Amino acid sequence: MNSPFDEKIADLQGQVKKLQSQKDALLKELDTVEERFEKMNQMYRKSFPIIIDSVAIGGDVFSDTCKDLSQALKKGESEGRIAYILDQLKTAVLKEEFVPPGGKQKKTLFSVFKKKDPFSFIDDYKQSYHEVVNTLRSNLDKKYTGKLDHIAAGIKTAENPSDISDIRKTVFDLIFNYISDTNQERSKVNAFVQEVVGKILDIESSIDVGYQHTDTLFQTSDHFESVLESELKRLKQTSGVASNLDMLKIQVAERLSVIENALQKKQAKDKAIRDYIEKERQVFKSGFTKLKQDLDEATRYSEELEKKLNLDQLTGAFNRRAYDKKMEDEMARFFRYGTGFSLLLMDADRFKSINDQYGHAIGDKCLQEIIKRTLPLLRQNDMLSRYGGEEFVVVMPETDLNGGREVAEKIRQTIEKLEFIYKKEKVKVTVSIGVSQVREGDKHPKEVFERADIAVYQAKANGRNQVIVN
Ligand code: GH3
Ligand code: MG
Ligand code: MG
Repeated sequence: MNSPFDEKIADLQGQVKKLQSQKDALLKELDTVEERFEKMNQMYRKSFPIIIDSVAIGGDVFSDTCKDLSQALKKGESEGRIAYILDQLKTAVLKEEFVPPGGKQKKTLFSVFKKKDPFSFIDDYKQSYHEVVNTLRSNLDKKYTGKLDHIAAGIKTAENPSDISDIRKTVFDLIFNYISDTNQERSKVNAFVQEVVGKILDIESSIDVGYQHTDTLFQTSDHFESVLESELKRLKQTSGVASNLDMLKIQVAERLSVIENALQKKQAKDKAIRDYIEKERQVFKSGFTKLKQDLDEATRYSEELEKKLNLDQLTGAFNRRAYDKKMEDEMARFFRYGTGFSLLLMDADRFKSINDQYGHAIGDKCLQEIIKRTLPLLRQNDMLSRYGGEEFVVVMPETDLNGGREVAEKIRQTIEKLEFIYKKEKVKVTVSIGVSQVREGDKHPKEVFERADIAVYQAKANGRNQVIVN
């Protein structure tokens, strides 16, 4: 039977059990609160400083305050201290001002993601164009010094993309001027112009890439801003569950909204800059297209001059310069691949007396006719040049002595049949031709030429109007 004492004990035991389970429940609740607090702690004391450090990059008030805040959070300083720093931060953020393009931009909230000032490429450009001017200076005549000085001064004062276009135009004018004025060998001029223009193209395309890069930086910034925005939202939501951090929650939320405001202003400013840059970029791109057209024109012009420089004015045949180059090429091919070639040296017979008898103009006409009649007898790869006076040479790639002799004979016969009527008199002209071929042991084009020359001499000695092979 249960005594009242027993009942009392049972009652007490029940109460202890109840208290124990209450205690367990409380401990569990405490664990949850601690866990939440720990999460909050992680968020504020660890994640937040990382974000803050990443924007605090300068030596200005804003960055310094960010660093203070980051330190305070890491060290777990008091709520009062953190609230104080946040207040200072608010003042710094509100002081941040938009500086128009061209002016020096202050370090702003996200300037770490825009390491490049949108117009800093102008300095790169100036630097590169200085190099171009120096290259031109060390390669061109003294007479270009004045113009180059003028361009250099322009580069120094250039500030915006339209100044860049002006410099580009002046440099190109100068290059054009040089192409048409210089007496230098064309292949060298071309190589030099290609090099300089290539450099300019490099600069221009790198500037365009620079623009794109700036755009990418903006995108990075956009991305960062959206990440930060969502991070801030999360912070706000999480702070709602931390009842023991109420004070901090209110203060942080307040400051967060300030930062958000600044962020929105920032995005609006970024958009303005981006629009401005996009406009400038379009202007620049059209300038770049124009530059490419100029380059094509310069190349065409240069090629035309090159052609003229290789042609003989009177007969339209190639000239001595072109002949020399062709012989060098053929010789190089011979050394490298063993591909032979033949040479015809053709000299008009007693040409002096033709001039004396009919006058120089008829002599000229004779020379023109010789070329006109000879050309159709040659192959595509053969090259007919006026060596000088009334002497012509034909370089015949991959042709042996027999092949050379045949062609020479055909030419001789064709010219022999040629006749003009001058003052009712028949004007006739003949040619003597020496044929030679490149040989094992030849070191220089001159050796091939000299054999052909000896052959011509023999042809003259034998009575002219004939072909001699040597
Ligand atoms: P040979 O048969 O020995 O070659 O006699 P040649 O008179 O042709 O030889 P020479 O070298 O003594 O004289 C070459 C002449 O060719 C002299 C020069 O007046 C003439 N001549 C050279 N170039 C031209 C030219 O461009 N036009 C004209 N009309 N005559 C030229
Ligand atoms: Mg002669
Ligand atoms: Mg002659």
